[in-house]
Amino acid sequence: MSYDDNNIFAKILRGEIPCKKIYEDEFILSFYDINPQKKIHALVIPKGKYVDLDDFSQNASLNEMAGLLKGINIVAKKLGISLDGGEGYRVLSNIGENGGQEVPHLHFHLFGGEKIGKMVQ
Ligand code: AMP
Repeated sequence: MSYDDNNIFAKILRGEIPCKKIYEDEFILSFYDINPQKKIHALVIPKGKYVDLDDFSQNASLNEMAGLLKGINIVAKKLGISLDGGEGYRVLSNIGENGGQEVPHLHFHLFGGEKIGKMVQ
């Protein structure tokens, strides 16, 4: 699947539509999910144009990969849900149709602030 420049997260990255920003650096942008499924529901997206985790794993640079993983940790700490200070959280990335992916720009969901419950329903 090729990258669609008109997806909603691409528009957020270009500043064309607003988001409730949590954190930003050269590799990632993090903001609150518009339709939270848990007490804390944040999204972390790479700044590069990657459709999903498969695309990212195959095509991103090692710096982008490190930046994204480190970014998830930075955001979790900022939200107070990482284990240094908080009580843990869940990271999830949906890939493709069977994975239930709706927005075709790689993103990680961070759920926390309460018990997240069953892993898959
Ligand atoms: P997924 O099903 O993994 O592709 O998740 C897409 C997520 O993006 C959903 O949880 C939506 O609620 C969220 N979402 C869609 N549009 C926006 C937006 N404008 N700002 C923040 N989150 C959004």
